[in-house]
Amino acid sequence: MRKFGKPSPKPLAPSRFNQEDLTGQLLVTDLQGDLKYQASYEKEAIWQVLSQVQDPEIPSVSILDLGIVRHISVHMRQITLAVSPTYSGCPATDLINDLIMEAMEGAGYQNVNIKQALSPAWSSDFITQEGREKLKAVGIAPPKGMVSKASLIDRDIPCPHCESQDTRLLSEFGSTACKALYQCNDCREAFDYFKCI
Ligand SMILES: [Zn+2]
Repeated sequence: MRKFGKPSPKPLAPSRFNQEDLTGQLLVTDLQGDLKYQASYEKEAIWQVLSQVQDPEIPSVSILDLGIVRHISVHMRQITLAVSPTYSGCPATDLINDLIMEAMEGAGYQNVNIKQALSPAWSSDFITQEGREKLKAVGIAPPKGMVSKASLIDRDIPCPHCESQDTRLLSEFGSTACKALYQCNDCREAFDYFKCI
């Protein structure tokens, strides 16, 4: 029997994202129509907007793929996004913040502010599996190994074009400081490698 004043829960769209904060809240079953649920629902919509914001240096890879958006909080219409710089001194940081604000405003969100999330520091470990596949699809070898495990980092980088393991380092710095330039000894293609940083 339906009780008055307690709206039945709306069906949730399955989350395409894996962020701990969001998942944690979405798992809460909302039988009371409480505020937590509303906040989660709105957060899901915000994640969708952010998923459209591309990294300025790697078109086709979103900022969510890179794992730099760490947390969303919604409080009394005030939205706070915690965003990590990819690495200290990355020139794209300000530009990324501008792109985020532009996308949020474009989607009709006001009262948005971005704060820097410095701890834990971002590392290439935060790049999602989907992000790694997208990097490869645009000819950039994704980071090999995990910084946190410090094992076999940046060695024997497979060619993103032909999968050959027979590659060599041409330069520690590729098109940007976070990439190194490699060449494949089999297909002869040069490619960027997104370093473990
Ligand atoms: Zn190759």
